[in-house]
Amino acid sequence: MKNFLQVFIVMLTLQSIGFTQVPVIQTIINQTNLDSLTKFVRELSGEDQTIINGTPYTIVSRRWNHAGNDMAANYIQQKLESYGLPTYNQPFGTGGGRNVYAVQVGTQYPNKKYIICAHYDDFTYSGTVVPGADDNASGTAAVIEAARIFKNYDSKYTIIYALWDEEERGLYGSDYYAQQAYNAGDSIMGVINMDMIAYDSNSDSKAEIHTRPIANSIALKDKMLETNTLYNTGLTLSTINPGATYSDHASFWNRNYGAILLIELDGDFNAYYHTANDRIQYFNMPYFLKMSKLSLGVTAALAELTDIVPVELLAFNASVNGSEVQLIWSTASELNNMGFEIERSIDNQDNFVTIGFVDGKGSSSEINYYSFTDHPQVSGVNQLYYRLKQVDFDGSFSYSDVVNVSYDVPAEFVLSQNYPNPFNPSTKINYFVPQESFVSVKVYDFLGREVMTLVNETRAVGSYEIVFDASSLPSGTYFYTLIGENYSFTKKMILIK
Ligand SMILES: [Zn+2]
Repeated sequence: MKNFLQVFIVMLTLQSIGFTQVPVIQTIINQTNLDSLTKFVRELSGEDQTIINGTPYTIVSRRWNHAGNDMAANYIQQKLESYGLPTYNQPFGTGGGRNVYAVQVGTQYPNKKYIICAHYDDFTYSGTVVPGADDNASGTAAVIEAARIFKNYDSKYTIIYALWDEEERGLYGSDYYAQQAYNAGDSIMGVINMDMIAYDSNSDSKAEIHTRPIANSIALKDKMLETNTLYNTGLTLSTINPGATYSDHASFWNRNYGAILLIELDGDFNAYYHTANDRIQYFNMPYFLKMSKLSLGVTAALAELTDIVPVELLAFNASVNGSEVQLIWSTASELNNMGFEIERSIDNQDNFVTIGFVDGKGSSSEINYYSFTDHPQVSGVNQLYYRLKQVDFDGSFSYSDVVNVSYDVPAEFVLSQNYPNPFNPSTKINYFVPQESFVSVKVYDFLGREVMTLVNETRAVGSYEIVFDASSLPSGTYFYTLIGENYSFTKKMILIK
């Protein structure tokens, strides 16, 4: 009982202050993978040879004036492009400066951007071997990992995956980007910067968030704290306010954009900082994974990642028209959409039965409209519930919301106008029988001669549809007559061959 009560109180507390776990964010955090992070770092820091633009290459340095710097940029570009994201180079300055960034356009707010970023250049006080594993292949790997995972989701906000050059020279790359964004009036909702996220020699899992009261930087810090708590990342975070200005987030503060820095530190400064020994062998791997999970988690939460919706249903509506129920719906976009099974349940929502199928458009980025006419075989007053089962070509499916109508059976016979009309060679005739009775439907030519009997038998209450095939008849005007108990009605139709 005690345990139950505790759980209950925790849930109540989280909900009462608006903190609720989002399953898709948890999934993304779980997908953050140490193997891929490790691979990126080993390749970026020269531990492993890699293939860059088809040629084997070992990145022994990413220092701004070393050949490896540009090769590292190529490596990053190649990775981001391999995830199908449009990727851009942004050259700047006179020293061959080159930012690389990829864009994932937001589905709801394409003009509002979150930036997840790190600098990829590195530095050493002496020598030409500059692995820069912690500073800052670690942050770079987390950005690439974000792109690798996020590409499989929709994001409501646009996400920029940015890797800055020449941070070590004085934040040159991020400064250039931020100034361009500022000049263009970009709406940057927040910047998550990672610089040194893998060193934790005493395994205390401590890290620092640097923020300042600039734009929404405090709120971004709070979101990171919330994410850390909500998803049990396992880190102990401290807030530094006013935060340090020694990394790329400061370029955004300088333009009054919200930004935060996630960094290891907390009294445990990397002993190999800016030396040839800044190598992955000194990483605390579980810590590196936790820091990456937090970075991805907070970015995913901010940008509001959602599962990809292959077919986006805009509207689904049901209305009664005489003896028929008209269903209409539309889609904003479709991907591999085979079509829609129409399902109906009478007087409850527990007994859905398939009553028809409407072909989809396959893949389409345009708005498409659909309709379906139901002729319910019911008597009296009923609640009719409808839903769509959208089926992909691969067999996967999803259900729409349920719509319902109150359906009152008409008191009298109904004979609908045939559709299509004029027609060639066949057309549909709908009619409704209000009580069980003998029914005949016959077709007559222009001179009143009977040419075909379509129905001649007892019919139960309900709606019926006849397909009239006139392929054996010549062009001309025809009449169709419904005769039921105390009822006779005739309509005209035209066959044009
Ligand atoms: Zn750094």
